[in-house]
Amino acid sequence: MSWQGVEGQDDVVERFRRVLAANRLASSFLFVGPAGVGKRLFAEKLAQALLCSQVPAERLEPCGTCPSCVQVAALTHPDLFIIEKPADRSSIPLALLVGDDAHRMREGLCHDLAMKPFMGGRKVAIIDDADALGEESANCLLKTLEEPPARSVLILIGTSADKQLPTIRSRCQTVRFGGLPTKTVAQLIEASGLITDPQQAERAAEFAGGSIERALELADEELWSFRLQLLRALGAPSIESVSLARDLVAFVDAAGKEATLRRNRARQVIGFAIEFYRQLLRSLCGLEVAGDEPLRVAVDRVGSLWPGDTELAARCIERSFDALSHIDRNAHQSTLLECWLDDLARTIDSAQSVGA
Ligand SMILES: [Zn+2]
Repeated sequence: MSWQGVEGQDDVVERFRRVLAANRLASSFLFVGPAGVGKRLFAEKLAQALLCSQVPAERLEPCGTCPSCVQVAALTHPDLFIIEKPADRSSIPLALLVGDDAHRMREGLCHDLAMKPFMGGRKVAIIDDADALGEESANCLLKTLEEPPARSVLILIGTSADKQLPTIRSRCQTVRFGGLPTKTVAQLIEASGLITDPQQAERAAEFAGGSIERALELADEELWSFRLQLLRALGAPSIESVSLARDLVAFVDAAGKEATLRRNRARQVIGFAIEFYRQLLRSLCGLEVAGDEPLRVAVDRVGSLWPGDTELAARCIERSFDALSHIDRNAHQSTLLECWLDDLARTIDSAQSVGA
């Protein structure tokens, strides 16, 4: 169901409806869940409900038309504070939380939140990309979390609770957002107009793990043709890692100058490989292979020639997840991709020579 444009998060909506009706809203929340499932949208709609001047917050139904609602929608409400990680930074700058050196504790989110609400209601702060809170920044937030200013609500948004420092995690109420159903993802991306072909929308949704953001990244025809090449290479008895790595690095570089675009491509390709090994693992266990035709063909092809057992497939999955985690940590990408493919090839080849 949809609430204020937020799709498929009924449990979260109900939870907030209940605590608001009981007048027991906590002051600090940690929203966690995959990217692109509606966490930020929900946070903004919750802020709108809390600041709406027409409908009492307890009803969790912002009118959408009063001056407060309009200002929240435009992100210009004086009692709404939003902090995000700048695109060119790897973490949230300390100055955004506590002011720069010249204005320490006299500016920034912690200072603003401690002021009385302009409109007399509440103050709401949203920290997006809480995964990118460094230790120093997290420590600066502790006082605010420990002694929340009256009538303030602080919402941190991250991808998982594990990525937050324990000091933050223990002081916030965690709210989990699940992935969206594949059908909802397909409908939403079709409605967005970014993928107009229903079949393409469905394919992207199937691989998106319930995330709109991921599905939109998958709206890239070149990515799907590279996937065919990757599946052919992984489905061969032995991986030609040097030439595959060369093509992969060229493919990733072709995404453009922006590091995020290149990282996305690298992440997607590794994701495709993980899916391949997962399905191979299923096939080795005698289970039916799920997925589209190219994937099934590749798994069938390698199946009878696979030199190891399920353990070997599991090792390939593990090595791929390891590569994936390093992509997010901004490591040198081409080296990382080369090492990943080289390790896969060597792992499989060594099983082959043991078996021979
Ligand atoms: Zn309103």
